[in-house]
Amino acid sequence: MKRPAPPWYKCDFHVHTTQSSCFSDQKATAGQWIQAALDAGLQCIAVTDHNDYRKIDEIKVAAAGKDIAVFPGTEISCSNPKIHVLVLFDVDRYGKDIQAFLEKCDVHGAGGGSSRGTGKSIFEVCEIARTFDCLVIPAHIDDFHGLSSMTHDQLARLLDKKYIDAVQIDNQDIWGETGFKEGDEDAVYLKLQERYNADISIERAREWQRVYLEARKTNIPMLTFSDNPHEAGDSHHGLWGIGKQYTWVRFHGEPNLANLRQALGSYKDQIRNCFDSPEHPGEDPL
Ligand SMILES: [Zn+2]
Ligand SMILES: [Zn+2]
Repeated sequence: MKRPAPPWYKCDFHVHTTQSSCFSDQKATAGQWIQAALDAGLQCIAVTDHNDYRKIDEIKVAAAGKDIAVFPGTEISCSNPKIHVLVLFDVDRYGKDIQAFLEKCDVHGAGGGSSRGTGKSIFEVCEIARTFDCLVIPAHIDDFHGLSSMTHDQLARLLDKKYIDAVQIDNQDIWGETGFKEGDEDAVYLKLQERYNADISIERAREWQRVYLEARKTNIPMLTFSDNPHEAGDSHHGLWGIGKQYTWVRFHGEPNLANLRQALGSYKDQIRNCFDSPEHPGEDPL
């Protein structure tokens, strides 16, 4: 008899709390934050404040007994020009574990919650993260504070799985899987203007697209998360945006870091981002 296929979990692994100074409604509670995640149908969420760890334990308490797994983490800003990187820890870890990682990266208490971050390069940060047995995912690579400041060679080196486990993409639906062509510029400009509520030059769009296409050529998993905007097109964070973008993960067993790593290793079977699969991917056997 065949065993039932493992279920898909709806996951958002890039979410800010009030511990990030750019979170608009500073009165929001940990309980409201978890409730917003449940209301969005999420079964897994990560706490990824800018260069900070101090809300993690409170969120874990708020999630206790609820049907949602919380992955502690952080979004660390690496050396100039600022590149944002998500670092995820196992579900049984606490704020102090993320604090130890941040301190190893020379991010100390007072800088927390802000965009200050570390003077270390993204490569150094990845190497430190490896010694903490966590997952490393460069954030919104085809967007502001993504990887477009890197040269072709730096990017090729980073996209090797020695350094990172996956990337977060933001704009696949605008570039298209093979990238936009000459003649598409006006349409791309308008789509970006609508998404960002701002003018994004076509030169910048080409740089962002270059990163997306470079990543697509490799075998790195491309994930989507919300980075919870306060409202549509707002760069501030809030409860509204939690789960607005998400990734489906087919976990063999409990949702934890080892099983997430296993799923990323077989991403063609066990991972779907919300551009490729807005709806539940279905329960077909593997
Ligand atoms: Zn960011
Ligand atoms: Zn963020």
